[in-house]
Amino acid sequence: MQLFLVDKLIDGTGGEPLEQAAVVVDGGRITTVGRQADIGVPEGAEIRRGATLIPGMVDVHVHLAYSGIAHKRAFRAEAVDMAYPLMALRAAAHARDTLRAGFTSVRDLNAPGGIIIDLRDAVNAGYVPGPRIKACGLGLSVTGGHMDQPGWGDHVVLDAMTCVCNGPEGFRRGVREQVKRGADLIKINVCVSSVRDLAAPYQQEMTDEEIQAACQEAHMLGRTVSAHTSGGPAIATAVRAGLDTVEHGHWIDEETADLMAERGTTYVPTLLVNERNFDFSKEEMGATDASWRWLELSREAKWESLDRVRKAGVKVAVGTDAGFMLPHGKMNAIEIELLVRGGYTPLEAVMAATKTGAEALDLEGVGTIEAGKLADLVLVDGDPLLDIKVLQEASKLRVFKDGTEVT
Ligand SMILES: [Zn+2]
Repeated sequence: MQLFLVDKLIDGTGGEPLEQAAVVVDGGRITTVGRQADIGVPEGAEIRRGATLIPGMVDVHVHLAYSGIAHKRAFRAEAVDMAYPLMALRAAAHARDTLRAGFTSVRDLNAPGGIIIDLRDAVNAGYVPGPRIKACGLGLSVTGGHMDQPGWGDHVVLDAMTCVCNGPEGFRRGVREQVKRGADLIKINVCVSSVRDLAAPYQQEMTDEEIQAACQEAHMLGRTVSAHTSGGPAIATAVRAGLDTVEHGHWIDEETADLMAERGTTYVPTLLVNERNFDFSKEEMGATDASWRWLELSREAKWESLDRVRKAGVKVAVGTDAGFMLPHGKMNAIEIELLVRGGYTPLEAVMAATKTGAEALDLEGVGTIEAGKLADLVLVDGDPLLDIKVLQEASKLRVFKDGTEVT
């Protein structure tokens, strides 16, 4: 039995923090939450003291298979330089780094060979340390779409880099294939960035019928659907079709924001990856003039979208795109700081990184500190409500998953 005694408890529900709080953990679960004065010290309890206790954090948008390398060509080369088993072993190291940073649950949104499904099973079996993982396997993409990009020599055959689907029946089949492989959820790519006309820098790539078929099939099989989006009417179409989470959404208009609020769709802005681009030069990124301009435009637009979504009352979750442009573990918590920069209170931003994230992952047992929940906890040497950046400092965090401290 463990007893956490903290100056402040942020339980993840968005409610006011509890001062001088005590949390009792027994057998990997939280059994009691209350004031120190009321709970006392249960016999035999191991005492852990700290400034603040928050739930284990959740990153709903990661790519554990990728290393975070920035240059576009190097990123592409990575996918073919490594055998998938090696990539999976490296992903295990990424998972460990993510967990050590306080993220006890993640959702993986596409990995070559669907290897994160296997990593999930390896973590669950106790072979390797890692956060709780929900994995989509391969993302579903139309031929030549966001996840089936052109530009390879035409003699190059890429195996299982993505699940290429065309037509409503093709997408139904793709959903079934990923479910057969073991996917927890389905990832689709409904609209993407486009540099052909920078006045409308996005383009729909799945037809309305394909979007509807993918959502319907996934839901029939009990899977949620996450969509890579950029802007335009396809987002609203997908939300109406029952899409569960909108990723990126650089250009979300007011009408779509209202629709998301009404339907209970979760927004995953991935602000960090947009900001991250500007840690590099155009040359370091391997970007063209047009694609660099797109990055500038989308960065601005994203903040405006976040503002609309916040005012409309849409649920927002923390997702970083770690693995794409971002190393695993070191930077995930910056997304929480960016939500605060975008107008959320620190308490709301912590909720986005805990309860809302857990809900987006369909993980009922985690995300809040309440009796009966699994003991995924982060003991913070500092107060994230006064300084949200403290969550970025691994040396100030003690991480517990299922009540066991992560080392
Ligand atoms: Zn992504």
